[in-house]
Amino acid sequence: MDKYAVIGNPVAHSKSPQIHAAFAHATGQGMTYERLLAPKDAFAATVDAFVRDGGFGLNVTVPFKLEAHALADSCSARAELAGAVNTLKREHGTWYGDNTDGPGIVRDLAHNLGVALAGREVLVLGAGGAARGIMSALLAERPHSVTISNRTAHKAADVARLFSRFGNVVAAAPPALAGRAFDVVINATSAGLADAAPPPWPGTIFASAGFAYDMIYGDAPTSFLLWALRHGAARTADGLGMLIEQAAESFLLWRGVRPATGPVFALLRPAGSS
Ligand code: NDP
Repeated sequence: MDKYAVIGNPVAHSKSPQIHAAFAHATGQGMTYERLLAPKDAFAATVDAFVRDGGFGLNVTVPFKLEAHALADSCSARAELAGAVNTLKREHGTWYGDNTDGPGIVRDLAHNLGVALAGREVLVLGAGGAARGIMSALLAERPHSVTISNRTAHKAADVARLFSRFGNVVAAAPPALAGRAFDVVINATSAGLADAAPPPWPGTIFASAGFAYDMIYGDAPTSFLLWALRHGAARTADGLGMLIEQAAESFLLWRGVRPATGPVFALLRPAGSS
């Protein structure tokens, strides 16, 4: 059995093992997939131990995507651009890194949720590995603009500079968003995973028919999505669809087979559940 895992901290909440087990079953691939909790200061050591144990590939989640990029021996163009890796594949004794978060979120928005980005004002909250990973895919959809805003403002400015050659992308510190409203607001922060502090952004960021997307997912609506609804967002979705779509891209890279995602969506969130 070829051995795969999702590595992160925290990682207990991850649904990736269920998703990849379903993909493997549906496509007849012989593989195992587990959760790997890495101490925050021991990402590389945990990856080394996984290799010694016969590991073939990893999904990388919070907070290690930038470290995974540093660890990869070679990377896809999109991972190189993002400076963040969410998928590692063992090849000839080295690590190849890719980033499937961008195609994952765009496929979920466009195909599963019917949210077109072309011509829209998009706001991305957060400037960590996940935000960097989705930026070029969002800009490729030709939105009117993508504004990026982060609690630590200089990181958003860095990301905006990096991606400005792909479209109209600007950085704005949280207080500078007072009085601004956006068609699509994407929460790419990890706020809510470990704490319940209120977001540092003004509640006026949602346009009247605005759509709020939280890359975090859960069995109940996330704290960000509840906050968005209280502040006028008309529609919301959490990141389960993105998780499934980015997982399918990782699976394709590892196994050379693209699994269907619809059945996994139905498995993890049966009709009628939240
Ligand atoms: P990182 O650790 O790289 O970045 C975290 C980001 O969140 C930073 O911008 C940080 O701001 C911000 N942040 C953390 N706490 C707060 C807070 N209390 N208030 C405001 N901002 C905060 O994480 P990733 O970018 O890798 O992941 C971000 C989230 O996206 C995670 O929750 C992850 O699970 C989710 N995700 C979901 C995916 C899916 O498929 N659904 C795929 C990828 C990610 P600062 O710079 O100021 O510290």
